[in-house]
Amino acid sequence: MINTQAIRHLSDLDTTPFMNRVVKSQEELGEMAAAALVAAASPNASASADDNLLEEATDVVICALDVLFAAGYQESQIVQMIDTKCRKWARKQNALNALKVERQFSFVKR
Ligand SMILES: [Mg+2]
Repeated sequence: MINTQAIRHLSDLDTTPFMNRVVKSQEELGEMAAAALVAAASPNASASADDNLLEEATDVVICALDVLFAAGYQESQIVQMIDTKCRKWARKQNALNALKVERQFSFVKR
């Protein structure tokens, strides 16, 4: 789905210091937030921001992978961590959904 090999290759070629990559990720996160505000037609949206959530969120993904590769992590470790985090997210959603169902039927006397 994501061409991590291309990102890995570009990350390896890049000589930008590690902390600059981390700060760049933060910058891209801010751009994503600005784009989301525009997309949501929020009154807080910046007049200079563009409606380009796809582009800015993609920048965030690329920058995060760049940081991980620059820190020495391997693709297999990243994939494993994504899987772990998704399983944690799924458990949280299942718990929330169970709570919603319980609340929905809480009027039923047992
Ligand atoms: Mg950007």
